[in-house]
Amino acid sequence: MNYADAERIDTLLCNKKGNKIDSPNSAQLVVIVGCGVRQSADSKAISTIRNIRKKNPKALIILTGCLSNRSDIQKKTKGIVDIYLSISKWNSFSRNDIYQLLQKKDIKELKSNLKNFYRTLPRITSPSTAYIPIMTGCNNYCSYCVVPMARGKEISFSPEDILAQAKTLIDNGYKEIILLGQNVNSYKGKDKKGEIWSFSQLVKKIHSIKGDFWIKFVSSHPKDVNQALINILKLKKVSNHFHLPIQSGSDNILTKMNRKYTQKEYSNLIKKIKSQIPDIVLTSDYILGFPGETNKDFKESIKTAKEAQFEMLYINKYSPRPQTTAKKLKDDVSQNIKKKREKEIDKVWKKTALEKNHKLIGKTKKVLIDSIFNKEGKKWVLGHTFCDKRIKALLGKNNIGSGNWVYIKIDKVTPTALSGKIVKKL
Ligand code: SF4
Repeated sequence: MNYADAERIDTLLCNKKGNKIDSPNSAQLVVIVGCGVRQSADSKAISTIRNIRKKNPKALIILTGCLSNRSDIQKKTKGIVDIYLSISKWNSFSRNDIYQLLQKKDIKELKSNLKNFYRTLPRITSPSTAYIPIMTGCNNYCSYCVVPMARGKEISFSPEDILAQAKTLIDNGYKEIILLGQNVNSYKGKDKKGEIWSFSQLVKKIHSIKGDFWIKFVSSHPKDVNQALINILKLKKVSNHFHLPIQSGSDNILTKMNRKYTQKEYSNLIKKIKSQIPDIVLTSDYILGFPGETNKDFKESIKTAKEAQFEMLYINKYSPRPQTTAKKLKDDVSQNIKKKREKEIDKVWKKTALEKNHKLIGKTKKVLIDSIFNKEGKKWVLGHTFCDKRIKALLGKNNIGSGNWVYIKIDKVTPTALSGKIVKKL
């Protein structure tokens, strides 16, 4: 989401005749799109700002994104950040405002217009993959999560605007559309006639746009997955990779996290999806060491990861976040135990992923090329498959670059990557 926001901010500033340069150390204006999902993200943003300020004392530094409204962050960055600007205000930021600010003059009160900000069609960094935010904010209030406080209540953007963006991008040759939201399954976008569209209606409509492209989406909440969403996953252009955060396999911890489903409900949902889409690639998120997580709770998480056969896990070691209800609980699982649990659960998904990837040896997959890189005097292609597996192959004499399709026959695998030979280009 922050990446997509940064692309839009870049576009808005460049439309106002700014020039993007490579190093913040020689820029007049530096914009930090801060993430506050974990303590480590907060710390990284603050140390980045400090480093830039040290090397570039004259720069105008703007902090935006999920950190801009947090009083604790404003306190820690007092004197090194010039302006805290929420995402919703970027659209009313004029060229004149920038000049005023560069001269350290105050500007008039900026108006909030979040929907207009997300209507901006950004200059996209990738030649083939485009992110489209379809909503922002969240109403779920998971007890550990700062997002509802940082981004506010859920707002779904107009389906017409999203479809127009998708069509323009596809007509311009983009091959992968990634729909973004904190909880895409609860999308409820109002069209001009006042009718409310569900997420599955929106995806079906994007799917009907003519062209050879893939559709992906993140993130989904298990409590909002219904048959209509499972049907979406069966569509030809919709990736068969489904990321479904579980966070814990223990009912005790799930209740404390306010996740609104049980381990059994999650497992039944996975069984239902697998019975209808046998080649689905499932990935998930876990938070380890949530307050009060016992060894028994953790074993239940391990058991669920094995049963669900996740092929990748994004593991977060719990850290208390400001303004969340979990912050009131004692962070009583030591760092050592969190690390030990991380190592243990890491082995589980890597074992599953290796077994599943082994079955791909000898198969040919359509790949979207992300980059070309040099290694040991040879050129390589790095890309990803329809189900989001990283894959590389020797470029050889093929005359292709980033953003192209290619077919690769897989001959080697690890838990996290595939490699093979280019057998056909498109
Ligand atoms: S659903 Fe996701 S974004 Fe919303 S509160 Fe829970 S973890 Fe945070």
